Amino acid sequence: MITRAKSNPKTTKQRGIQPLADSNLVVLPALLALQSDIASCTICPSLKPWRKFGPEVYGHASTGYLLVGEAPGYVSWRKRRRFTGQAGMLIRRALRTVGHPRYRDLEDLFYMTDIVKCHPAASANPSSNRSPRRVEVEACSSYLLRELQVLRPSAIVTFGKAAAESVTRAIKQATEPVESSCLTGQAGDRSSASRCMGQTEVIPFPHPSPRNQVTILKQYPSMRAFEEVIARTFRQLIARLEAPKGREA
Ligand code: SF4
Repeated sequence: MITRAKSNPKTTKQRGIQPLADSNLVVLPALLALQSDIASCTICPSLKPWRKFGPEVYGHASTGYLLVGEAPGYVSWRKRRRFTGQAGMLIRRALRTVGHPRYRDLEDLFYMTDIVKCHPAASANPSSNRSPRRVEVEACSSYLLRELQVLRPSAIVTFGKAAAESVTRAIKQATEPVESSCLTGQAGDRSSASRCMGQTEVIPFPHPSPRNQVTILKQYPSMRAFEEVIARTFRQLIARLEAPKGREA
């Protein structure tokens, strides 16, 4: 269990999503199919030429932790590495301050995704960034839902209000069929029973973009304090992973 300090973001628990399977192999075929569908998707005309990350930058699927941002930034997309813009570097720095040898990079700790998978440019200049539009978020929401259904994370860290809202909506959608399968599951199906009791923790942070500083400083005394709270959350997630079974942090 993550203990929330006074200045931590609100942590909400959502019922109904089974924790990620122990082995990547269990989810791999479904995950590859999903990544392939995302890679070939061109539904949003406003996002042409559909700059999106390849599967090599999603991160680690078996920790059970999902990191959700709003959309790929241009710099990150060019570098083929998530969270490498100014905002992303704050998140990476927070993890580095934890100093755990096994989890040096976000890729070691999280499977990473965005609520909109293609880079939204603010103008004809491709290097400009903008927030995703509602219509784009809605069009892409089915992929987020599938990510939750395939990965079944135990905790989801979100950056940005839109990301937190989309994740909450997707969890609600993902939960409904699981709950109904609980009712119709075969007698003695223990995995079905544990699925009913599964919980996903959502840990929402404001978007760390410098443009969002006013909002951040309404919740945290300084940007430094904001970064420390992110680091503390990462430390707690790692402690939970590293704790002997039955003695989770
Ligand atoms: S943002 Fe999502 S729905 Fe829209 S084109 Fe990209 S992958 Fe497809």
